[in-house]
Amino acid sequence: MPSYDTNNIFAKILRGEVPNDTVLETEHSLAFNDIAPQAPRHVLVIPKGAYMAYDDFSSDASAEELVDFHRAVAEVIRIIEAEEKGFRAITNARTHGMQEVSHFHMHILAGQLMGPLLAS
Ligand code: 5GP
Repeated sequence: MPSYDTNNIFAKILRGEVPNDTVLETEHSLAFNDIAPQAPRHVLVIPKGAYMAYDDFSSDASAEELVDFHRAVAEVIRIIEAEEKGFRAITNARTHGMQEVSHFHMHILAGQLMGPLLAS
C-alpha cells in the first residue's frame, strides 16, 4: 500500500490552500461540490483525517470518525433533496478503481437516473 500523499488536492482543500464549494462541514468530515459534476448534484464527502481509500478508512479510522463520516453522507443526501428519488454513492480505490485523488472520498450523485452500474 502506498503512503498518504500530503500534496493531493483534497489535502490542499482541507488545509485551506485550494477553495471549495462546501455543502457541509462537521468535526471530522467535509462535503463539497465536485468541480466537474457528472450528475445534476455531485457532492464529494471526505474525512478530515489522512486516509487514502475506503478500505484504510474503514479499518483505521476511529469510531467517532466513522460515525461522523456516515452521518455526514446521510445529511448531504438530505441537503441535496435526494431522499425521495434516491442517489448513487460511489467510492473508487487505487488503480483498478481508477481513483484520481488519493484522499478517500465518497461521490454522492443525484438528480437523474444513473443508468447501469458499470459502463462497458
Ligand atoms: P476519483 O476519480 O478519485 O474517484 O474522483 C476524483 C473527483 O475529484 C473527480 O470527480 C474530480 O472531478 C474531483 N476533483 C478533482 N479536483 C478537484 C478540485 O480541485 N475540487 C473539487 N471540488 N473537485 C475536484
